[in-house]
Amino acid sequence: MTSTKLEPCIPLDMEKEKLTDLVEKAKDYALMHGICMRRKDQFDRDALHFAPFVLFPTSFPRNEFDKSVKLQQVLNELMHKVAHDDEFLTTSLRNTIKVDHFTKRLFDIYERVKKEGGPTQAISAGLFRSDYFYCLLSEKVKQVEFNTIASSFGCLTSSLVSQHKYVVQEAGYPQHLKNIPENNALAGLAGALISAWRLYNQPKSVILFLVEDVTYNVCDQKFHEFEIRRQCPEVFVIRRTLTEIGNRGKLTADKRLIIDGQEVAVIYMRCGYHPDQYPTELEWDARYMMEISLAIKSPSIHYHLAGTKKVQQELAKEGILEKFLGDKAHTDSVRDIFTGLYSLDNDTTGDKNLENAMNNPEKYVLKPQREGGGNNVYGEDIKPFLENIKNSDERCAYILMDRISPPIIKNYMVRPGMEPMLADCISELGIFGYVIGTKDEILENKQVGHMLRTKLSHVNEGGVAAGLGALDSVYLVDTDRCC
Ligand code: ADP
Ligand code: MG
Repeated sequence: MTSTKLEPCIPLDMEKEKLTDLVEKAKDYALMHGICMRRKDQFDRDALHFAPFVLFPTSFPRNEFDKSVKLQQVLNELMHKVAHDDEFLTTSLRNTIKVDHFTKRLFDIYERVKKEGGPTQAISAGLFRSDYFYCLLSEKVKQVEFNTIASSFGCLTSSLVSQHKYVVQEAGYPQHLKNIPENNALAGLAGALISAWRLYNQPKSVILFLVEDVTYNVCDQKFHEFEIRRQCPEVFVIRRTLTEIGNRGKLTADKRLIIDGQEVAVIYMRCGYHPDQYPTELEWDARYMMEISLAIKSPSIHYHLAGTKKVQQELAKEGILEKFLGDKAHTDSVRDIFTGLYSLDNDTTGDKNLENAMNNPEKYVLKPQREGGGNNVYGEDIKPFLENIKNSDERCAYILMDRISPPIIKNYMVRPGMEPMLADCISELGIFGYVIGTKDEILENKQVGHMLRTKLSHVNEGGVAAGLGALDSVYLVDTDRCC
């Protein structure tokens, strides 16, 4: 068991008056710096709410944070290689696509592009986020998942660092500032899109943000646009939905993607990761058209597939990291962040894993091939769920993962229209990075920033956009000093 005790960075037993004052200040800071979202209760194009946040930054072990930051470039490279290994992707997803219709549709696009002679655009741009819990049992960070599509909150959490710096000073703890690390995720991610645009090398071309019909997390996206404008006065950003691309997008003879008279150099997908986002064949046609086009995709279809939970599980198998990374130090450091990942395929190993999960459901999380939160199965729900699918191939659509137990740390959760709530919380760290390259050459590979999301400790999933989680920042503590 751990000897590390992680405490709130500021004593929370403050007088009500002081708390109210701090909360008001924090809310105003958030509202006035765009740490906001669209209202979900009533749609109003012209109004925003502040995004849920916790009042103070959350303690996180410094050495584990530094380690995760350093590891990001290795993970970027790993995922780039995985995405370009046709045999590995095909073998890994072979059983999954027999039963998971959505992954199959993505895979069909991948195959169709291959049949057409391969991608028209050799360059891919991956804007990634690797997510972790600090695991109490091992006293190490353990990877929850690796996101290759629509990784959000690069902007809002960059801004939240400034808000938290302001709040801890207002609370009377200026000495804490040095332990809140800078976060330049927004600048880095916007820079990646500009780099991709420059590589496309067509002065009048635009960057297209692929967006949902209604975007609740709109500020996070819009600040990317503003940042692109700030860093690069020459480029224009347009926002389009899959439906709009399906209806109005066209390919030229040399496969340039044109929409509304503009040539698209780069497609940044903040949508396209969930079956609901493809209500008809038109949207699937649009995804294929984008994929076969000359535009640089973030992500290209092979990056998208490489980010599936099934691939994550296959990567944890013996000998696989060695194959991709070679370097022993790199292999060891990546293996160290993996927790147990298990296949549920219809074979003896899968049977054994399934039985273990039925016997000890509280030790596992059951995951389908979905993104965006709210899809996993936990604890006692696992048993009846597996009972239902254990005799069918449907089980191949899922993977099993060891359930990670992070430390519980108290904080005030602040949500629009609600009283601040003192709560037991757990936090998930995300490290942002990007990679741009072709199958044979990595042109750019960077770590660019981080984020912290915090949720109530008893809630299984705490999506911020879904209203169950809150934005947070990291407060670094030297764990050997806080034992
Ligand atoms: P998604 O693609 O939907 O974000 P995740 O794998 O990130 O899928 O799971 C969603 C949430 O479920 C995570 O943010 C985390 O709160 C919780 N979760 C996922 N895996 C684990 C795990 N192994 N242990 C504990 N909680 C987990
Ligand atoms: Mg996630």
